[in-house]
Amino acid sequence: MPTPKNFVIVAIDGGAASGKSSTSRALSEQFNLLHVDTGSFYRAVTAELLRRGVAPSDLEAVRREVGALELATRLNGRSAAMEIGGRVVPETEIRSRQVNENVSHFSAIPEVRAALLDYQRGQADVAQRHGFRGLVMEGRDIGSVIFPQADFRFFLHADPAERARRRALEGGQDSIAERDRLDSSRQTAPLACPAGAVAVDTTLLNLEAVVETLARPIAAALAK
Ligand code: C5P
Repeated sequence: MPTPKNFVIVAIDGGAASGKSSTSRALSEQFNLLHVDTGSFYRAVTAELLRRGVAPSDLEAVRREVGALELATRLNGRSAAMEIGGRVVPETEIRSRQVNENVSHFSAIPEVRAALLDYQRGQADVAQRHGFRGLVMEGRDIGSVIFPQADFRFFLHADPAERARRRALEGGQDSIAERDRLDSSRQTAPLACPAGAVAVDTTLLNLEAVVETLARPIAAALAK
């Protein structure tokens, strides 16, 4: 997809609790970019499939149901929220223990990933339609599969102990190590630092320092 001048695409990949969301939100504010959290998309689809009584082990039902989902986007401030059949799945539901436990199983299924591919790429059109200067999209395969030609591609990582500490501070119950294991070992679009992406170890950095590291090259490019 051709990227118009002055429209920037920033891809941020990384494991659970690596700092992607806070960093992406800050960059979205700083540069007027649409914030797209693709983890929330996989979570919304997971919640919806579970609501329909579909288990990730039932591939036939997954294929049938996921292909029939009516997806749209609603803006929530600067962030994109997924609508399924006109409904935005509430935040409490997409962060529930049930979704935490199932999301990596659903997201490893190629048909689930395929069903979200064009939808995710289409967020660039949503951003343009609403007058954003670009988009910052976070996930696991943004710089490798969704937008391999993104203007900026970053990969955030941190020590597992530090990531567990951050998630505990947020008050959430989440087996991030298990999700990372599943996300890294799957056949389709595994979690990995894409070739050519800038890797940033956030273990010893506070949020401000991480944002500053990513913002510097973006600001320089936009000033040209
Ligand atoms: O980012 P978050 O931790 O909320 O993502 C939830 C899950 O969604 C991940 O553990 C992964 O299984 C899946 N995911 C994915 N590809 C993405 C974003 C998320 O497979 N681009």
